Amino acid sequence: MTVNSILIAGTWRGSAGGQSLPVVDPSTGDPFGHIARGTAADVHAAVAAARRALSADWGRLSAMERGRVLTRLGTRILEEADRLAELEARDVGKPLRQARADVVACARYCEYYGGAADKVHGETIPYQDGYTVLTWREPHGVSGHIIPWNYPLQIIGRSVVAALAMGNACVLKPGEDASMTALAIARLAQEAGLPEGALNLVTGLGEEAGAALAAHPDIDHLSFTGSRDVGTMVQAAAAASIVPVTLELGGKSPQIVFADADIEAALPFLVNAAVQNAGQTCSAGSRLLVEETLHEALVDRVAERFNALVVGPAERDLDVGPLIHAGQKARVERFLARAEADRLPIRAQGTLAPDLPPGGHYVVPTLIDCVPPDHPLAQEEVFGPVLAVIPFRDEAEAVALANATAYGLVSAVWTRDGGRALRLARALNSGQIFINTYGAGGGVELPFGGMKRSGHGREKGFEALYGFSQLKTVAIRH
Ligand code: NAD
Repeated sequence: MTVNSILIAGTWRGSAGGQSLPVVDPSTGDPFGHIARGTAADVHAAVAAARRALSADWGRLSAMERGRVLTRLGTRILEEADRLAELEARDVGKPLRQARADVVACARYCEYYGGAADKVHGETIPYQDGYTVLTWREPHGVSGHIIPWNYPLQIIGRSVVAALAMGNACVLKPGEDASMTALAIARLAQEAGLPEGALNLVTGLGEEAGAALAAHPDIDHLSFTGSRDVGTMVQAAAAASIVPVTLELGGKSPQIVFADADIEAALPFLVNAAVQNAGQTCSAGSRLLVEETLHEALVDRVAERFNALVVGPAERDLDVGPLIHAGQKARVERFLARAEADRLPIRAQGTLAPDLPPGGHYVVPTLIDCVPPDHPLAQEEVFGPVLAVIPFRDEAEAVALANATAYGLVSAVWTRDGGRALRLARALNSGQIFINTYGAGGGVELPFGGMKRSGHGREKGFEALYGFSQLKTVAIRH
């Protein structure tokens, strides 16, 4: 079946191989459309179109004009907010209000980077007598973007939109399990006046279209958001052509609660950061580290909230939606079975809404107490609505436990002691630290990215514009 979900040089077309993939609603398990199964030949054509765009209309736009196009895109996204939110909710399985928040965030990225496009300045550098030395930033050129299924709208905003703001021409490979809003955004970008070839899009499988993009010898930069295993392969593939890679990978992010914390303020964040998007969030706060003296009291309060969580289809807009597919559900259930086999205390579980569609991939949110620090539940990314509680004795142990995983994406500290908050902010190995709040990735304006195996490079905020450009130094002797 020919499905025209591949955008190359401004034209929508089917895959060179003529094959397609079903689009499945995680809330029901039912297919509701198809996408093209892009091949290496499609990726090659997309990269070539992006290369041409750099010396055509797109490459000739001034920074101010690029910014205007992106700002118009943000306006169009907000005008279409309801439709986009329904599509994202259906495709990813996230409750409608979360999908709406993602639409607004995507528009905000367009506003932010639209406004920032003409504000990236160079420097003049004091050098030897008789010289003037200056620097400026240039786009990498052709920028590849491989993104996952869990937050398509938000990740397009922070990676593709920032790369376009700097004048790169992009090739986007969305996640095969949730590509629909990527297609919608690309169409809106065309309406907003984005010149042809500035954004090319190839739907398809990771091991086919994704692998072809990562290994393509004519890309200049690659932004990968996804799992650690695939990120490792992608970086190795890009290394063959010395292509710089931004890696936004997984996490096992701790929320550290001291006995002096404002518990009422913390509670909603402790729960939401663990179950938002059914826990399928790179920056999910999936470990709750709690000071021993507060342990019982805090876990009781968190348990009340977990017990009250209701799981159901995205369109019913309950607390938690389904997982993305059967494989993800099986993965989460394996972790829960392991917890049971190891007799870890299950302190609370949410409930399934009545009359669930039988084909949906539902798992109840689960709060597990006293998880040993070396247990898989304390070390590995579950990517489901599961919160592991780990008690600690004192500040030193809290830091040691927080840092004792391979990951380093986000951490939170809850305390009324300002000195302690700052000491921990220094001591914790993660790219973002929240004090008395939790951002689950934070706002559009806040640089975001990992330490250790959570990846390298920063997206979001102004910092992303440096990552999506390269510095040139010009030394003038006079
Ligand atoms: P994934 O790694 O399986 O897939 C991510 C993307 O890579 C998809 O588009 C997929 O098609 C593609 N891909 C798969 N195999 C490939 C290959 N061999 N070569 C090139 N591309 C390939 O991840 P996922 O399951 O879609 O997403 C979940 C993961 O993403 C989690 O680990 C999560 O923590 C991570 N994530 C990280 C961030 C962040 O900002 N740090 C944000 C969201 C998700």
